[in-house]
Amino acid sequence: MMEMADMEAHPASERADGQAFLNQLKATFAKMPNEIPLLLFTEKGREDVFAQANRQVIRAFRELTDKISLREYDIDHDLARKYNVSAAPTLVIAPDRYNIHWIGAPMGEEARTFLELLMLVGSGNSNASDQSLKVLERIDEPRHIKVFISPTCPYCPQQAVNGAKAAVARPDLITLELIDIQCRPDIAQQYGAHSVPVAYANEALIGQGAQAEEVFMSSLQKLEPQTIFIPDVDAEVVEADLTIVGGGPAGLTAAIYAVRSGLKTALVEADALGGQVATTPIVENYPGFTQVGGKTLVDIMVNHALEYVQIFQGEKVIAIKPGTPHEVQTTRRRFLTKTILLATGANHRRLGVPGEARLSGRGVSYCATCDGPLFRDKKVIMVGGGNSAVTEALHLYHMGVDVTLVHRRDKLRAQEFLVKNLKEAGIPVLWNTEVKDILGDERVSAVELFNNQTNETSTVPMDGVFLSIGYTPAVELAKEIGVELTEEGYIARDAKHRTNIPGIYAAGDVEGGYKQIVTATGMGAEAAMTIFEDIINPYWQQ
Ligand code: NAP
Repeated sequence: MMEMADMEAHPASERADGQAFLNQLKATFAKMPNEIPLLLFTEKGREDVFAQANRQVIRAFRELTDKISLREYDIDHDLARKYNVSAAPTLVIAPDRYNIHWIGAPMGEEARTFLELLMLVGSGNSNASDQSLKVLERIDEPRHIKVFISPTCPYCPQQAVNGAKAAVARPDLITLELIDIQCRPDIAQQYGAHSVPVAYANEALIGQGAQAEEVFMSSLQKLEPQTIFIPDVDAEVVEADLTIVGGGPAGLTAAIYAVRSGLKTALVEADALGGQVATTPIVENYPGFTQVGGKTLVDIMVNHALEYVQIFQGEKVIAIKPGTPHEVQTTRRRFLTKTILLATGANHRRLGVPGEARLSGRGVSYCATCDGPLFRDKKVIMVGGGNSAVTEALHLYHMGVDVTLVHRRDKLRAQEFLVKNLKEAGIPVLWNTEVKDILGDERVSAVELFNNQTNETSTVPMDGVFLSIGYTPAVELAKEIGVELTEEGYIARDAKHRTNIPGIYAAGDVEGGYKQIVTATGMGAEAAMTIFEDIINPYWQQ
């Protein structure tokens, strides 16, 4: 929505693109069969930034269509009781047909969710996949979903939209509350939701993090978090020359190169697009941008890739069967493909201390961008000494979090420029210090720290523990199909990014190396060019 108000700041070509997008939205809304009545409940006399944001965002959308109407009521109004609204501001969406409440305001990342929600309600179509609808049809008891979200969390829209699809598909049994943790930290606290997105149904935890749509639906049906979803045999089949697994910088770049060389290409990503970059607060070493938010850079890359390639987002690859063609099975469909590029990136490394897994999402966090706002004025540690830990410690500091860096050695591995910024901000560093335990019942309350020089152990009261201690390559799929790994556990490949299995390639952080955005994009481009050459002249047939 910022773009709409901010158009003058953009060059003419961008303005033209923006206008084309707005015209397209107007046309889409015009075709929708349903009115979209919105009821905003606010507290009289209280000047509330979230109520204000609701009015602004809705005003911007109302410029696109007269199907959206807005009425504002006081929280004491009879209608608030009728619709079970007890917190202000709450936005109630089309209550004549659905039971969907937005507690907070659709700002930042959440503007995307809001747009999608308006589309679903306006069209009256949940847009859920056939597989998801089959799961939803099996639900025969009410489900009350709560999804906790934050405007700075790039994973949140996926999970919030999953909830919206469920509520639109089964309005007879499913209700949805989207709760902004910045607006209502008290409700987040009550649920122990200290990491977003997190979803509950009928007060049971059903999902931590963004889930693939079908995994969310089956967690909703079973009222407990599911990790996999096996689609029915009638899943759609897509044929491709190249199927890219992973939508980070390597995968997105490979897609652009592959389609431009004429390959029929599909890109599958289970989580948020952009990989680690999506949660990097600021990037300062990607050529062409002196300083850019990680999420902004991702949006630019994704928009560029979408000019060429179809992206299957929110679909998890659950199996790969090498062959002629290779088969890639996702939670939603099957790809029959001549080649596969594994651009699966890396997962957060875990510390492996007691309390870490139990308190994950309850004060232990791996995403400062997502969860930082919950810790404003609170005391946290950031563990790690690399570029990520220092960048994220600075980000927390600028958000008003009382952060201390904890590093196991007496020297940081981060680039000099970042170390200088850390010193200038006056962020305290505990050197030669290891976290031995994370303590707390319902949520983090203290950490046990060990100084490996003095051998002293101390228990320090703490509200949160942020971990940024590097990544381990995401090689589970590769291992399952027999792709060889290096001694360090990365995918082994030749100079042309070919793995030991003919027609299967790797690119990006999963191959190891420098792990920079610019090296990942370079590797993605190289791999796509090799794949093009190999499809023209298959080395495995020689
Ligand atoms: P990293 O560079 O691998 O650093 C990980 C840090 O965590 C190290 O300081 C390491 O300590 C510490 N660590 C590892 N395991 C630990 C454990 N079990 N207990 C305590 N501490 C532990 O990881 P990263 O900072 O996440 O960065 C990943 C990659 O992305 C790197 O290649 C980095 O250069 C790149 N990156 C670049 C930028 C940028 O260019 N601006 C920004 C972010 C990331 P030791 O130092 O003692 O090993």
